[in-house]
Amino acid sequence: MIQFFNTLSGKIEPFHPLMPGEVRLYTCGPTVYDYAHMGNFRAYIFEDLLKRFLISMNYNVIHVMNITDVDDKTIKGANAEGVPLEEYTRRYIDAFFEDINVLNIFKANYYPRATEHIPDMVIMIKGLLKKGYAYEKEGSIYYNISKFADYGKLSKIDLNKLKPGQRIESDEYEKESPQDFALWKKKKEGEPSWKTEIGEGRPGWHIECSVMSSKYLGQTFDVHCGGVDNIFPHHENEIAQSEAYSSKKFVHYWLHCRHLIVEGEKMSKSKGNFYTLRDILQKNVDPMAIRFLLLSTHYRKILNFTFEALNQASASLQRIKDFLFELKNHPFKKGENKHISELIEETRHKLISGLSDDLNISVVLSALFEMIRKVNILISKGKVYMKDAENLISFIRYIDKILAVLPEEEEETLAIEVQEKIKIREKARVERNYELADKIREELLRKGIFLEDTKDGVRWKKMK
Ligand code: AMP
Ligand code: ZN
Repeated sequence: MIQFFNTLSGKIEPFHPLMPGEVRLYTCGPTVYDYAHMGNFRAYIFEDLLKRFLISMNYNVIHVMNITDVDDKTIKGANAEGVPLEEYTRRYIDAFFEDINVLNIFKANYYPRATEHIPDMVIMIKGLLKKGYAYEKEGSIYYNISKFADYGKLSKIDLNKLKPGQRIESDEYEKESPQDFALWKKKKEGEPSWKTEIGEGRPGWHIECSVMSSKYLGQTFDVHCGGVDNIFPHHENEIAQSEAYSSKKFVHYWLHCRHLIVEGEKMSKSKGNFYTLRDILQKNVDPMAIRFLLLSTHYRKILNFTFEALNQASASLQRIKDFLFELKNHPFKKGENKHISELIEETRHKLISGLSDDLNISVVLSALFEMIRKVNILISKGKVYMKDAENLISFIRYIDKILAVLPEEEEETLAIEVQEKIKIREKARVERNYELADKIREELLRKGIFLEDTKDGVRWKKMK
């Protein structure tokens, strides 16, 4: 049975999607005013793990991630540079797609952009006005939170702090000041705006997620994710808008990841510990080590990003790669050891039950490394055979469909001409033509392929 911690109920709950075999998932995407930082990738990688796990359990996952390309921050950034909003956000949208590709993050089915859904937002705002949940004030339109009886059910805010009639224009504000928030902001000098039936202006941030999620996933769907900072006000306001509008339950499971901090402190530009993915990659770090590190702390625990932890992640990853290399290159004898198939099944069981238990990644990783340790001992004792090696390789590939930290399969095979060179060298060695053998060895080394002569024959290894 799969179970997740649902922020809405504050409890671990069994997971039952609305439609058997299908999961409809919405994840809050980037606000494209800057390059995405490590904290953002913690959220995106947690969501990717969730999605890959559900896919591995044979669910068809329909995933929508919005792109916030108009809001207070994007407008401020474009104005500071003196470029049109569209030109400014395009740079960060392109960078976002490059970054998720580098980190092996599965693409969503839809990436709706706020600026492309203004008419849909106008329809929902009109509906909220009609139902009496919204009101107009000096050309802007606000949501009246006192009208929505369930306000606060996600974030559990103290409703005594509610300030009826007080309004807030900005998209982000503290839990301490729940107020009526802007659905539609009246046109201001120096801001992009749209001429619509509800006046000339631009949308607030929260309305876009209510509108775009229901457009692509329906008015009620299964899972909504984000970082904990999204719980209030963003997700609380999404619920208020969507449920008031549709009179239906908006989302069944709300999953939020805790924050990423750096060297024990909150990331901030003034502390000099604010890292985008690009900053870290510039230090010549393997992106898969970053992915491994971001994956390896349970999503509901604070993740402390340190360079030491990054080195450890890189070493752990190398252990998996070395294991795979050994399985591919060790001269195993023909045959099979039943204990290995049992070990694989035991590990598979731990992996599935670990992930089913609110994505408990620690269980998964310790089961994997325990299996590697045990198999390595058996290899050294000559108790692993060809069939076992094949089974282990496909099992590692199965695990990596979920973790996605290993290089693509093709990269691990050698080009045909390199294989030919190795054969020529083998022949030269048999013929005691060591001069030619050494020449080929050096030539391949220059190409980053290291040859090792063992009593069981030659082995190759790709160097970094
Ligand atoms: P934003 O681009 O700020 O709208 O954020 C995109 C996603 O990253 C949201 O799900 C945020 O909750 C998440 N996020 C932002 N900062 C952090 C952080 N330090 N740790 C984890 N997730 C974060
Ligand atoms: Zn959102």
